[in-house]
Amino acid sequence: MAKLLSRYPAALVFGAPGAGKGTQGEILTRVPGFFHLSTGVIFRKLDPQTEEARQISEFCKRGELVPDELTVSIFRNWLEGRRAADKYKPREQLLLLDGIPRTVNQCQLIERYIDVKLVLYFECSDLEVMVDRIRRRAVLEGRPDDASESVTRKRLETFQRETTPVLEYYPPELIKKIDSSGRPAEVLAGCLAELIPVLKASFPDEG
Ligand code: AMP
Repeated sequence: MAKLLSRYPAALVFGAPGAGKGTQGEILTRVPGFFHLSTGVIFRKLDPQTEEARQISEFCKRGELVPDELTVSIFRNWLEGRRAADKYKPREQLLLLDGIPRTVNQCQLIERYIDVKLVLYFECSDLEVMVDRIRRRAVLEGRPDDASESVTRKRLETFQRETTPVLEYYPPELIKKIDSSGRPAEVLAGCLAELIPVLKASFPDEG
């Protein structure tokens, strides 16, 4: 039997669109020891001339998920590219996965090479707060899938139906709720309080 490749240690940044995880992901990009990756960002950076990018943008514009196999293959190629370029250093950086996995099937597909150590769960039960955050972000970032309220509501429905089951996939002790209602610095402190012990346990010789 083929020898199992060693898996990359990772924390998931998990939450509905508009739950506040993107802001933290952005900040954490600059904190040493972490390597942040967002599939939404990767999709938006694809060369728009390619057939693949066109297909993906159709799913995004409708507020639907991109098919699992395609998502995971783009994610994996991108990550391996970063690793080959020595931007992602798996022996010293904890991966922060933002926006993936978004279905139980994706959890299974990435499990061969991703070792999920922690799930930061940005809980937000107020639908209108999330719709409002996305509306404000649309003005700032000009994302096509943020622009229409009906697409926003469709994305939130898609999240409820297809993505919340991801929480059941991982052992409950890995899931840590993050209160995203405070100031960004407070939310950051809450995230780091969970992440730092995992970072130390994953790379005991670093630091
Ligand atoms: P985000 O920036 O995370 O809100 O992602 C924007 C859009 O990209 C989503 O609404 C989906 O259409 C697509 N997308 C991002 N990540 C995934 C994923 N893991 N699986 C399927 N579709 C995704």
